[in-house]
Amino acid sequence: MSISPLMPVYPRCGVRPVRGDHCHLIDEDGTRYLDFASGIAVNLLGHSHPGLTKAVQEQAETLMHVSNLYGSPQGEKLAQQLVDNTFADTVFFTNSGAEAVEGAIKAARAYHQNAGDAGDAERFELITFTNAFHGRTMATISASNQTKMHQGFSPMLNGFKYCEFDDLEAAKALIGPHTAGFLVEPIQGEGGIRPASEGFIKGLRALADEHDLMLVLDEVQCGVARTGKLYAHEHYGIEPDILATAKGLGGGFPIGAVLATEKAARGMTFGTHGSTYGGNPLAMAAGSAVMDAVANQDFLAEVSEKGERIRARLEQFIGNYPDLFELVRGKGLMLGIRMKVESRPFFVHLRDNHQLLMVAAGDQTLRVLPPLVIGDAEIDEFFDKLSAGAASYSIEEAA
Ligand SMILES: *Cc1c(COP(=O)(O)O)cnc(C)c1O
Repeated sequence: MSISPLMPVYPRCGVRPVRGDHCHLIDEDGTRYLDFASGIAVNLLGHSHPGLTKAVQEQAETLMHVSNLYGSPQGEKLAQQLVDNTFADTVFFTNSGAEAVEGAIKAARAYHQNAGDAGDAERFELITFTNAFHGRTMATISASNQTKMHQGFSPMLNGFKYCEFDDLEAAKALIGPHTAGFLVEPIQGEGGIRPASEGFIKGLRALADEHDLMLVLDEVQCGVARTGKLYAHEHYGIEPDILATAKGLGGGFPIGAVLATEKAARGMTFGTHGSTYGGNPLAMAAGSAVMDAVANQDFLAEVSEKGERIRARLEQFIGNYPDLFELVRGKGLMLGIRMKVESRPFFVHLRDNHQLLMVAAGDQTLRVLPPLVIGDAEIDEFFDKLSAGAASYSIEEAA
């Protein structure tokens, strides 16, 4: 047998972390890495955070899982925290980001199709945007125009129309009798840390209002305090109808959620949707501990302040290497360095030669996604490693 026991869908690198310590990961052989990837925007409280660890430990000892057939004090608590701190009136819990987007797509369709005379059974299509990433289930790969994710998995699910990202006029032109809504990342993550313009997001909101469509935001990566707001749409001065959240919400514990207004959730009635694990007490305890830590003005202001400080230093730094770097973009601690060369070989160089973990993204971008709890020491360490990495990097060697 030549296939590995772990199904070989990931090209895994040689780093094999066995322990986390705040903003560092420690490898099997004891090597310490500075973690500016955070499990791809997941570990927002860093590793082995005392409050989060304690919450999970205590809940695991008490009650790990029960069915959604029973009442859920733990679920009610986290749902209330989300409702109190966001646009949402109601929450459905999932175990991952893709499931949250999947649930959001279902809610948008059900808003039209499952609302009797108030609805319009002909509406099922979501307008989605180029270079989007919404997850790896059939519906969520179908929602993205990235054909490399479709390859081998035909046929795609019907009901998605692709539109150029950040092009409001093009989105408007695609609205038709079957349109149910828009599905968009306010700041594209995998697509290369590309923030939508304010006019675009505000314009989608206005079009949705005008045509009775659902504005569905995928904030799986940009949500949960990452950008210095609890959710990134707050930067744009609008509220969505439906929002998918996950990644940071459990701080490392698998969890996702669909947030919705009462009106947007009108089709999601008894028996229309469900999940065996979604909302289990262990996940709820993790989510509540994360919300306790991040959903307050002091924490959010610190994220913004650290983000601005890192951004200013990055902008200064990239000026020293005009052949390597082009620009810095993003918000808060969701930053991207767009490179003039492929970002992947440089990210490998930083990892293997300077013990700095980052994540590459589409569009020649290097993602800067540190735990939100980084301090001055980690920021300085990051710049030391990045500077040393740039100084020792040879584009010819990497090519
Ligand atoms: C990561 C991600 C997802 C998918 O989340 P999973 O937990 O991997 O299923 C969906 N949307 C966006 C924007 C993401 O970044």
